[in-house]
Amino acid sequence: MKGGIRVSRTPLPAPPLNEAYRLLLDRFGFQHWWPAETPFEVCVGAILVQNTSWTQVERVLAMARKGGWLTPGGLWSMDEASLREWLRPTGTYRVKAERLRAFLQVLWSEHAGSLDALLSGSRSEVRNRLLAIRGIGPETADCLVLYAAHQPSFVIDAYTRRVFRRHGWSGADAAYEQLQELCETALDGSDRVRFWQDFHAQMVAVGKEYCRSSEARCEDCPLKNLLPKKEAGGSNTVNPPHQAARSSSLLRLS
Ligand code: SF4
Repeated sequence: MKGGIRVSRTPLPAPPLNEAYRLLLDRFGFQHWWPAETPFEVCVGAILVQNTSWTQVERVLAMARKGGWLTPGGLWSMDEASLREWLRPTGTYRVKAERLRAFLQVLWSEHAGSLDALLSGSRSEVRNRLLAIRGIGPETADCLVLYAAHQPSFVIDAYTRRVFRRHGWSGADAAYEQLQELCETALDGSDRVRFWQDFHAQMVAVGKEYCRSSEARCEDCPLKNLLPKKEAGGSNTVNPPHQAARSSSLLRLS
C-alpha cells in the first residue's frame, strides 16, 4: 500500500525451464560437466576461463597436466614469471596469474593446501569463503561450489542471460542473485547438483551452437518453440520488448 492506493501485480508465469531442459537434453545429450579430471582442475579452469575461450584454457591446462604440475603444490611453487608465461595463451594473463595466485594463497595460508578443507561446510559457507578471495565473483564461486564442492548452487553466465533475455524470461538488467533464485526455484527437485550441473552445460551448448551474441539461429534451435508468440498469432519471435520489460519487473520485485 502506497499513498492509500493498493498496487496489485499479477504474478507472471515462471519460465518453462524444465521444458527447456528436456528439449536441450534431447538435442545435445547429457553433457557430463565440468570437463576436468579433478576438483582442483575445476577450480583452476573456472578461474582461468573468465573472459577467455575454453579452448585457450584447455591448452594451458593440458600443458600443466602433462608436466605434472596441475596440483595445488605444483602451481603454488611456481614463481610469478613462470606463472605468467604459462598463462600467456589465455589473453589477460597478468590478471589471470594474479587471480590464481590469490586463490592459491588462501588455499595454502588458510587451509594448508587442502582443497577439501577450502570447500568444506554448507553451501553458503563455501560460497562466501570463495567470494572473499580477490578475483572470484559470483559466477566463478558458483562454478566451484557446483562442480568442485558438489553442492547445489546455480550458475548464471552470459549464455544463460542471453537465452533468458531473448525469450522474455528476464530483463537485460536482472541481477545475478535474482536470476539465480528464479532458476533454483523453477528447477528444484531431487538430485539438484547433477541437474544444475547439466542445465548450465546445456545453456553453454545452446549459446555456442545457436544463441550467439551476433546471431540467433532460432530456426534450427531446440528452444525455438519456447520463444514468445507474436501478438497476432504469427511465428515465434526473439526478444519482444514488452515481454522483456514484464519479466524484468518480476525479477526486480522478487
Ligand atoms: S530459439 Fe533463438 S533465442 Fe531461443 S535459444 Fe535458440 S537461438 Fe536463442
